[in-house]
Amino acid sequence: MSDCLFCKIVAGEIPSSKVYEDEQLFVFKDINPKAAVHLLVVPKIHLDSLDDVTSEHHDLIAKMMLKLPELARSQGLENGFRTIINTGPDGGQEVGHLHIHILGGLGLPGFN
Ligand code: 5GP
Ligand code: ZN
Repeated sequence: MSDCLFCKIVAGEIPSSKVYEDEQLFVFKDINPKAAVHLLVVPKIHLDSLDDVTSEHHDLIAKMMLKLPELARSQGLENGFRTIINTGPDGGQEVGHLHIHILGGLGLPGFN
């Protein structure tokens, strides 16, 4: 866990462009944005991925989901946004700390 990139970002050991923080969540800009707006929403506690989530994390997951529209609006996304959660190697997950991508803005390609 001490080797986790996003844990280090949450702890301020690696700099990031922070957008929002509270007791449970840390939100920052993706270093390699795939859209005009590209945020990463992470829980402060380390969870590898959705595969690590249990009913014990019910409130945390609900809080993350409920925060998404507010975070999108705070970045000027008034007409919608996309959320992505990659899980595990076959799901395209590159950083092993649960995160929700928020993407939006002009030029967001179709998804199908
Ligand atoms: P994943 O593929 O795991 O769902 O997404 C990981 C995301 O983390 C990628 O979009 C990547 O650009 C982003 N990322 C990787 N390293 C860093 C970093 O050091 N800082 C920030 N802000 N984002 C990072
Ligand atoms: Zn971590």
